[in-house]
Amino acid sequence: MFALSEFPLPYPTDALVPFISSQTLETHHGKHVATYIDNLNKLIENTPYENVSLVEIIEQSAGKPAEQKIFNNAAQIYNHDFFFHGMCPQCEAKIPDEIINSFGSEQQFKDQFKSAATSLFGSGYTWLVRDEDNVLRIVNTANADTPIVYNMKPILALDVWEHAYYLDYKNKRADFIDSFLDNLVDWNFVAENLRQ
Ligand code: MN
Repeated sequence: MFALSEFPLPYPTDALVPFISSQTLETHHGKHVATYIDNLNKLIENTPYENVSLVEIIEQSAGKPAEQKIFNNAAQIYNHDFFFHGMCPQCEAKIPDEIINSFGSEQQFKDQFKSAATSLFGSGYTWLVRDEDNVLRIVNTANADTPIVYNMKPILALDVWEHAYYLDYKNKRADFIDSFLDNLVDWNFVAENLRQ
C-alpha cells in the first residue's frame, strides 16, 4: 500500500507563485496524485504487486496489456514525484556545463526542450534523459509512459498534461513551458541526477 505522505511536495503549495498557483499545486498533488495512489492501491490489493517497490511495479507491468491500469497509475505516481522535485522556489543554481556542452548553449537546450514540449500532442511529459549510450537527449512520452522502462535515466521532467497548467495558463502551454525553463527548474536537482 502506498500513501500520499510517501510522495510529499518538496515545497509548500504556494512556493511557486506566480508561475504555478497554489490552486494548481493543491489540485495537481492533493487530488490528481492522490487519486493515482488510491487507484493503484485498489488494483494491487491481493496481488504479488502488494509487496514490491513502485519502480518494480512499473518495470514488471510495462508492456503487459492486462496490467495497463496498474502500469498507468504506478507510472503516474513516479512521473509526478520526479516532475515536482525538478522545480524549486527562487532557484539560483546555474544550468550544468554538461547540458551546455551537449546542446551547444543554454538557449539551444531550452529551444529544443520547448519545441518538444510544445509539439507533444495530447497528454504526456517532456524529459531530459541520459540514454543507454550515455548521450543526453530530450524525449517525449505519451500519457503515463515513462523513460525508465526504455533504459533511459530521467534527469528532468515537465508534465504537459492540461491539468498541470490550465488553471494558470489556459490554453497557452508555450507560456507554461517558458515559466518552467526560465523560472522553475531546480538545476541542483538536475546536476545531482547527472552525477549519479
Ligand atoms: Mn500531472
